[in-house]
Amino acid sequence: MSRTAAALSRATGRGDGSVIGGRVGLIIDPDLLAHLAAGRQIALVSGTNGKTTTTRLAAAALGVLGPVATNSFGANMPSGHTSALAKAGPTPYAVLEVDEHYLPQVLAATSPRVVALLNLSRDQLDRAKEVAMMAALWRAAVAGHPAVHVVGNADDPMVVWAAEPATAPDAAGVTWFSAGQRWHDDSWVCPACGSHIERVDGDWHCTGCPLRRPQPQWTVKEGAAVAPDGTPYEVRLALPGRVNVGNAATALAVAARFGVRPGDAVGRLAGVTSVAGRYAQVERDGRRIRLLLAKNPASWLEAFDMAEPAPTLLSINARDPDGLDTSWLFDVDFAPLRGRPVLITGDRAYDLAVRLEVNRVPFTHVPTFAEAVAAVPPGRLEVIANYTAFQDIRAVLDRVL
Ligand SMILES: [Zn+2]
Repeated sequence: MSRTAAALSRATGRGDGSVIGGRVGLIIDPDLLAHLAAGRQIALVSGTNGKTTTTRLAAAALGVLGPVATNSFGANMPSGHTSALAKAGPTPYAVLEVDEHYLPQVLAATSPRVVALLNLSRDQLDRAKEVAMMAALWRAAVAGHPAVHVVGNADDPMVVWAAEPATAPDAAGVTWFSAGQRWHDDSWVCPACGSHIERVDGDWHCTGCPLRRPQPQWTVKEGAAVAPDGTPYEVRLALPGRVNVGNAATALAVAARFGVRPGDAVGRLAGVTSVAGRYAQVERDGRRIRLLLAKNPASWLEAFDMAEPAPTLLSINARDPDGLDTSWLFDVDFAPLRGRPVLITGDRAYDLAVRLEVNRVPFTHVPTFAEAVAAVPPGRLEVIANYTAFQDIRAVLDRVL
């Protein structure tokens, strides 16, 4: 039945069918996700940023063991999970990206072996729950599933607090990783006691209670993922940026919990070239265009890190999926863009213009993406866009990938 709905959804042109098939299936049988998950070894991946990419990398790493079911189109709610597992057939393994709000529900339905908790930071201002409330939601979910091993980010106090119940003597434990964290503005206040969190050289501790950065087993050093035994595995990725080396280390840590040796998996990570069109590179009129999605303040900082010092187009919309409020633009320091040609476009280009003006970053406004391409010389063009602006540009580029 679910398969029929997916076929119908495709036939009527409403996307690839991955959500609608699952949604109809769940209406018919609310336990469908649990049934489809039964008998499989599953890893869940959740967090504000990086979960789609880390899921892809973890699925690639786990592929050492055999076929892996995964929701590779970013359909990260239970309907998407149901659909992904139904379509995959009887694979022994699954890696599922989970929207952070749905983590408790999906943990309960899928009884995973591992859950990777990447980070928690503010998302769209006008819809997200407070970051600390989300951490509390996760913490209760972790406490309710002591058999689930957590792979957690040691650099994010919200994650460390949320994962703490898994460190209890009768729980399945935590593997801590450190992938570096650029965005700190959502974790100056301790989620446990409300005191100030002090940071020194990458270390952090609460000034009012025992919460502090745990010693990470997996770290990143000079483009390599360093395993718990100290062995560095050089990560060769098709994806840009330091943040993706961190995502790769996380993926190797997840796969290791399934018995995958990092040396066997690391080579497979280079096969991940683009993630739902993100990082896609397209040639157009002699321009090598690369698309970077940046949907919240933390991911804008990461995008600046990934972008080469080439002409850069920024595109901002404020439609419903983006969040209607653009005041978050003032949370992001755009100064790293100084010294390169910057173009701006999108529904809310003028909000961006004000922000860049304040940040003293010179820019040129272009009405459309096509005009941006025409305005830059042949060579690299970096495009950083928020959600619907990104989708608009992908549509112009004939839905690359
Ligand atoms: Zn504290």
